[in-house]
Amino acid sequence: MEIDIVEVGPRDGLQNEAVQVATADKIGLITRMIDAGARRLEVASFVNPTRVPRMSDAEAVIAGLPDRKDVSYIGLCLNRRGVERAAATREGGRRGVDEIGCVAAASDAFGIANQKQTALESVSESVAMLRAGRAEGLVPQVTIAVAFGCPFEGAVDADRVISMAERLAEGDPVEIAVADTIGVAVPQQVTDMVGRLRERLPPQIRLRGHFHDTRATGIANVWAAAQAGARVIDSSLGGLGGCPFAPGATGNVATEDVVYLFERSGVRTGIDLDRAIAINRWFAGVMGRSLPSAVARAAA
Ligand code: ZN
Repeated sequence: MEIDIVEVGPRDGLQNEAVQVATADKIGLITRMIDAGARRLEVASFVNPTRVPRMSDAEAVIAGLPDRKDVSYIGLCLNRRGVERAAATREGGRRGVDEIGCVAAASDAFGIANQKQTALESVSESVAMLRAGRAEGLVPQVTIAVAFGCPFEGAVDADRVISMAERLAEGDPVEIAVADTIGVAVPQQVTDMVGRLRERLPPQIRLRGHFHDTRATGIANVWAAAQAGARVIDSSLGGLGGCPFAPGATGNVATEDVVYLFERSGVRTGIDLDRAIAINRWFAGVMGRSLPSAVARAAA
């Protein structure tokens, strides 16, 4: 068995940090993670820089990325303007991004806070973006945010998430993710959700899990998602992360912890754990603090 890991540290990991990480250090993080074996990386988000200032150097980061054929760079997009910016990174024969990651919100309150769209609007906008991205030669995929709980509305109905996913499938994404943006999910919920999605969605659409470790269930949720049929997992180096529009949200599951979990269980991830831990040490120096990964801490 194999699991693909999407390294989201450069985007989800850094968008909410108190400090602005230098563009060169973001590129350094991405380059080092590729050297450690990462092959899909979320490198930037094409959002309004006045709303998310930490991502204001998106185009500069992308312009400095290694020109690798075996790596897929993902840009997060919340609207069609974002898709246009993603496509523009490839103009003039430049390397640019390969994939767009669209976002639908499972609750109205989060959707309005995050992207000024109700849940329904975020689905129809995402379907339009998926199609627009594909027409531009970008690989389109989509994440359903706050799929297990909303910081403003509380519990999110699983039936609503399933029907959103079915509508998003009409945009022909290569992958649909369910995201526990605020880290409230427990493994049984993940097992049920991913299992139902696997039954209901066309087999060519991959399922991806995105978990935050706010309540110490993140790594258990990763395992539950993989057992239920998710073949792709998001994680961030060191467990960096948070969300500017989700109060109290903490880091993503740490890449080192996810690699340890899978590799020790005989599941290949393609990522070298020792190298990831070394990158943790370097990046902790960049951030001026230790990073949350339990596996990296234990290796000290
Ligand atoms: Zn996240």
